[in-house]
Amino acid sequence: MDFTVEPEFQAKLAWMRDFVKNECEPIDLLFPHHGDPYDTKNATARAVIAPLQEQVKAQGLWACHLDPHLGGKGYGQMKLAYMNEIIGRSYWAPTIFGTAAPDTGNAEILAMFGTPDQKARYLQPLLDGDIVSTFSMTEPQAGADPKEFVCKATREGDEWVLDGYKWFSSNARYASFLIVMAVTDPDAPPHSRMSMLVVPAETPGIEIVRNVGVIGDDLDNESQGIHGYMHYNKVRVPLDAMLGGPGEGFKVAQARLGGGRVHHAMRTVGRCQRAFEMMQERVVSRRTAGKLLADHQFVQGMIADTAIEIEQFRLLVLKTAWVIDNEPHGAARTLIAMCKVQMAKIYHDVVQRAIQIHGSYGVTNETVLAAMWMGLPSLALADGPTEVHKVQVAKAFTRNAKPSEGLFPSEHIPTRLAAAREKYADILSKAPALEAAE
Ligand SMILES: Cc1cc2nc3c(=O)[nH]c(=O)nc-3n(C[C@H](O)[C@H](O)[C@H](O)COP(=O)(O)OP(=O)(O)OC[C@H]3O[C@@H](n4cnc5c(N)ncnc54)[C@H](O)[C@@H]3O)c2cc1C
Repeated sequence: MDFTVEPEFQAKLAWMRDFVKNECEPIDLLFPHHGDPYDTKNATARAVIAPLQEQVKAQGLWACHLDPHLGGKGYGQMKLAYMNEIIGRSYWAPTIFGTAAPDTGNAEILAMFGTPDQKARYLQPLLDGDIVSTFSMTEPQAGADPKEFVCKATREGDEWVLDGYKWFSSNARYASFLIVMAVTDPDAPPHSRMSMLVVPAETPGIEIVRNVGVIGDDLDNESQGIHGYMHYNKVRVPLDAMLGGPGEGFKVAQARLGGGRVHHAMRTVGRCQRAFEMMQERVVSRRTAGKLLADHQFVQGMIADTAIEIEQFRLLVLKTAWVIDNEPHGAARTLIAMCKVQMAKIYHDVVQRAIQIHGSYGVTNETVLAAMWMGLPSLALADGPTEVHKVQVAKAFTRNAKPSEGLFPSEHIPTRLAAAREKYADILSKAPALEAAE
């Protein structure tokens, strides 16, 4: 496996490092709320980022996750991994680089399954960063298992009538359109029951029951919440609003996740590196018990564990990216699940240590660590909970495992020793003579 990239691309990455630190990170401070990057109507924020987006485009780094026929570079996952490692350091950087979720995944499925009309109407403005969109799948009573979904779309004449509730439809308040997963054939086998519909945000009957906030948002200030609790109250769309075929909802939903999970994993590496850099600076800046923090063994343990864990995880993500680029489709499935599980764990451990090293200052709202900490639980839930991905990993390693033949495991030492003795019986029987000859 070769994780190197050519010098020209390394130069691009160097430009990105400088640009994200000096141009994107300050925007995080000016417009710090979860919804800010998605609020296309915030004229001030848009005026600030527009010239930055132009610089990214001039560098040929805009929306690089796309295939060449959509204006992307066709870089492959390895290069995208290195880019996302840098992008992950700033909350605004994904928007400034034209690669913010869930729009990236929505663009991918529109590109893959959309009709020419759907592409013209939704895909191009999304790729240009002029609008944002929502992926509306999770329901109030069920999330991790889509087979439990009940929000339905019933055919009436030449329309689908959408009826039901959805939960955590991120950015619905800013979206120009929503991609909604709905039961269209309740009697079909579970994986063919649902279809995807592309629904313009202005369609009558789309009601946001509440804009749900997350940990850290004010409960009595709904303007901070961005996760739409949706009521699709007899929302009528034409038959050609379907994305993919009838019953293909699962297939379409699966198609949007692979590459995106690797990008998220590498963005997590970037955030962990930022927290780690803060740790390194702090331990050589502060003294206790007569010496620098860096000279205390407990602290050295935290620094060493952090360095090792980031390095290990980074290599796992790079390996995953390499396998996606170089091996047949699907070969990276288990590795992607491993990345999804591990990114939540490593992020937790690194950010926790970074806060601990900073003492009381670590828990203030005066460093980026506070926002990092608030985002922790979401990493283990969004795009599917850790447990579901662990189950997938475990099944991959047990599916083809063979049961032991006898009462004891195949590693049973007495059995293996007897076999070894039998195998070498000839030589062993001559041992006294061999030893005497020595
Ligand atoms: C920040 C954020 C943004 C999100 N954005 C979107 C979005 O834009 N669109 C959208 O549709 N959804 C979105 N979601 C929802 C997300 O996809 C769901 O949270 C996720 O699929 C889990 O569903 P749930 O929350 O209903 O949890 P549940 O399905 O109720 O699961 C709860 C817990 O049960 C356990 N569990 C579940 N299944 C299993 C299993 N098979 N084996 C063992 N244990 C299990 C796990 O501990 C799990 O965390 C978002 C979530 C977050 C946190």
